[in-house]
Amino acid sequence: MTEYEPVIGLEMHAELMTDSKMFSKAKVVDSVEAPPNTAVSPLCLGMPGTLPVINQKAVEYALRVALALNCEINHHNIFARKNYFYPDLPKGYQISQYEQPLGVNGWLDIELESGETKRIGIRRVHMEEDTGKLTHQDDGTSLVDYNRAGVPLLEIVTEPDIRSGEEARVYAMKVRQILRYLGVNSGDMEKGVLRVEPNISIRPVGSTEFGTRTELKNLNSFRVLADGTAFEIVRQTAVLQSGGQVVQETRGWHDTRRETFSQRSKEEAEDYRYFPEPDLPPLHLDDAWIEAVRASLPELPNAKIARYIADYDLSEYDARVLSEERAVGAWFDTAVTAGGTPKLVANWMINELFRLMNEAKLSIDAIQVTPAALVELIALVEKQTINNNTAKDVLAEMFASGTTPTKIVESKGLAQISDDAAIQAIIDQILNNNPEQLARYLAGQEKLRGWFVGQVMRQTKGKANPALVNQLLDAALAAWQ
Ligand code: ADP
Ligand code: MG
Repeated sequence: MTEYEPVIGLEMHAELMTDSKMFSKAKVVDSVEAPPNTAVSPLCLGMPGTLPVINQKAVEYALRVALALNCEINHHNIFARKNYFYPDLPKGYQISQYEQPLGVNGWLDIELESGETKRIGIRRVHMEEDTGKLTHQDDGTSLVDYNRAGVPLLEIVTEPDIRSGEEARVYAMKVRQILRYLGVNSGDMEKGVLRVEPNISIRPVGSTEFGTRTELKNLNSFRVLADGTAFEIVRQTAVLQSGGQVVQETRGWHDTRRETFSQRSKEEAEDYRYFPEPDLPPLHLDDAWIEAVRASLPELPNAKIARYIADYDLSEYDARVLSEERAVGAWFDTAVTAGGTPKLVANWMINELFRLMNEAKLSIDAIQVTPAALVELIALVEKQTINNNTAKDVLAEMFASGTTPTKIVESKGLAQISDDAAIQAIIDQILNNNPEQLARYLAGQEKLRGWFVGQVMRQTKGKANPALVNQLLDAALAAWQ
């Protein structure tokens, strides 16, 4: 039987977090929380006589993304009208880019599960505007909210370089991470500000031609992206193996049946009757501005991971975890700048701080512990003022109250007892008060040594310096032998 390989290209749509819309002064609002139709202007509604004006901030945000995805930037940008008729599109056309998009020929490296790096080609990054939102009700009527109409939207299209649902998921998550790093999109898929559409076909292994593709729409999570793509590959394979033909169409995902279903036949470019937008002049980007935007880009995840490994000798795992979100990396960097030993800071963050954050459901921006306070805590352990276990309790207290570790240690009297004489006195007292245990120890029951350590810790409420306790106890017991 013929063996097939999947060929997948992804289209992602990302709303840009600008204050105002792509071509009007209407505000960009949270489309889930804001009351419907409260952020609309005559332009978003397609009123006669209105004229679009390009939002410079939106172009800058789009440029950030195109640069971060290693695109060649077109200096000469043209907007086009993409015509179609639908109730969520009051103008009867969407202003988009068709020929001469902002960015072309980019790439993004992704890490596969095998540990290999794979380069995914980026075909184009272009600017457009979002449509309104329709809500279909059970009684057969539909509601429309134009708050979203005209929100700046970026379309990011890959080359057909992806070969599995899992690769599609990894790529899409990486794009989301970069968008969040760049501060241009929140990545909230539940809110629809980021949407992913895979185009999927299969072809006989070894063939260089592409098969007929289907496009999956309205996938609401990365899990569904992976599962829906995998489902489509299996479905198309069965169609071809039974002698049928794949129909080029748009398909949806049925969440409970966990399968794709046909929605509509695919439109071709000519159906949209693209033509240059007559109300907007071509947009020229000069080199100085492009370079200024490039220079303002933050360090991106891959560069950060490499730096943490090279400069701080962190494990690849730790470097990845700390680079997952820009704010986490910034917090870590601040702690290191404040004098924290990178590996210790990384351990305390990953093992303890993240656990507290998870329990409290707080992001790193929202916590009371400052990087300097964590460094102070680590220093208290290194100076042996407190031991590791006490330090964990102190961190929990810092997390709850925002107090500095030094203050907590002082006010709760948690400082470790590292005073030889004090510990010696306690040991002597315990040995004297427990002659029976001492006799059994001396008769060969060595386990009782641990019992004595426990007694010292109990009496000092866990504050005795453990190394010192062990050393002094051994000396005391030896003297009885
Ligand atoms: P449109 O969907 O608007 O027609 P394109 O033709 O540029 O746009 O393709 C959209 C996406 O589909 C791109 O990511 C591209 O790589 C991918 N693609 C194109 N042809 C195929 C195919 N035969 N199989 C799988 N993906 C494809
Ligand atoms: Mg498409």
